[in-house]
Amino acid sequence: MRFSFLSLLRNAFSAHRDWPEQWRSPEPKPAYDVVIVGGGGHGLAAAYFLAAEFGIRNVAVVERGWIGGGNSGRNTTIVRSNYLLEDSEALYDHSLKIWENLSQTLNYNVMFSPRGILMLAHGHHDVQSFTRHLHANRLAGIDSEWLSPEEARAFCPGLNISKDIRYPIGGATLQRRGGVARHDAVVWGFARAASALGVDILQNCEVTGIRRGPDGAVTGLDTTRGAIATRKIGVSAAGHTSVVLEMAGLGRLPLESTPLQALVSEPLKPLISCVVMSNTIHAYISQSDKGDLVIGAGTDQYVSYSQTGGLQITAHTLDAICELFPHLRRVRMMRNWGGIVDNTVDRSPILGPTPVPGLFVNCGWGTGGFKATPGAGHLLAATIARGEAHPIAAPFGLDRFARGRLIDEAAAAAVAH
Ligand SMILES: Cc1cc2nc3c(=O)[nH]c(=O)nc-3n(C[C@H](O)[C@H](O)[C@H](O)COP(=O)(O)OP(=O)(O)OC[C@H]3O[C@@H](n4cnc5c(N)ncnc54)[C@H](O)[C@@H]3O)c2cc1C
Repeated sequence: MRFSFLSLLRNAFSAHRDWPEQWRSPEPKPAYDVVIVGGGGHGLAAAYFLAAEFGIRNVAVVERGWIGGGNSGRNTTIVRSNYLLEDSEALYDHSLKIWENLSQTLNYNVMFSPRGILMLAHGHHDVQSFTRHLHANRLAGIDSEWLSPEEARAFCPGLNISKDIRYPIGGATLQRRGGVARHDAVVWGFARAASALGVDILQNCEVTGIRRGPDGAVTGLDTTRGAIATRKIGVSAAGHTSVVLEMAGLGRLPLESTPLQALVSEPLKPLISCVVMSNTIHAYISQSDKGDLVIGAGTDQYVSYSQTGGLQITAHTLDAICELFPHLRRVRMMRNWGGIVDNTVDRSPILGPTPVPGLFVNCGWGTGGFKATPGAGHLLAATIARGEAHPIAAPFGLDRFARGRLIDEAAAAAVAH
């Protein structure tokens, strides 16, 4: 069923009782052409593009909990493409271009809101490195503007540009095409569109083993809902990727999983009309359409699979927010939570084939993979369909750690976003 003005009107007259289920919940089939492990935005997007663009429809997405219950449903939804290095710029801008028409493509309102990303530079050295970053972005055709402190404040009223604070603001870069989207709508939109094309979405279905044949190639999976045969597996399991890939005997991956936290305030009238990020004092903030202030903290400094995190990390972030926006000091925080993010040493993702024939991986997005959801899904689908890395994904292969060709985005991704 397509969403349209008429369908909304018709269902309004029946008090919205007659909407059909948005995706099917079938029993697992004994075999699929492709199985995607992980029902987050990335896995569902890959399944959607396999069906929609590459004509591979005998596909299952296996999710151990509920779709969107992982980081896709826990993040602060910042979308941008102003990374530093050419390979990353191509990767994230590929995604941003898909975001721009995603609601129309999926016929589902993902509430993509390009309200502008303001990245604050504090002090002389920040100004120098941000200027370099801005020129790199412009060379790659990615929109980026330099704002003086006064211009930054005009763009984001309420921003504290006083010279008397710990880290005075020396200017800011602005990517106007960046913004936010509604995270669960992204997951549901991809699930609905993929299911309509024949993809089976199998929730409460945990992968417990990966089977390989005598030639080493994958032959199937063991799950809590039975065995499934397949010759192609794509793993998009975020913080649990290393656990899943160990099942295929791949050994240790260059990944560390850590908790990353976020928090929201009580709902307020519109106050902050853009996204503000500060790498130096480590804080970022936007306001949701419901009115909550959405605030992101940093990662804990130790490896863990517990979906909470240290209180001192959120306290530090709130200190920084109060310095940037002193008028928010008395706002009450309503909820905080954590997700398990998978960090690589160069803070760039891993996307491509693995040494195990038929096994593909998309992980290592760490603190910043929500923005890549449609692009990563598309590139994983292309890589699985063709059996080799898509050119945009090629630099991000697992082999880069052996070759020493790292894509060091630690500075561009220094604030958790
Ligand atoms: C607090 C926080 C804030 C963030 N803010 C931003 C931001 O503002 N912007 C941004 O770009 N990124 C942000 N991120 C990062 C972003 O959320 C992730 O990179 C992205 O959502 C990853 O999507 P995914 O689909 O790969 O992972 P997930 O949504 O985590 O999906 C992976 C799925 O795999 C499933 N799974 C795991 N093991 C198994 C198994 N054995 N069998 C079956 N299923 C399994 C999990 O249950 C999970 O649902 C943030 C993350 C957090 C935690």
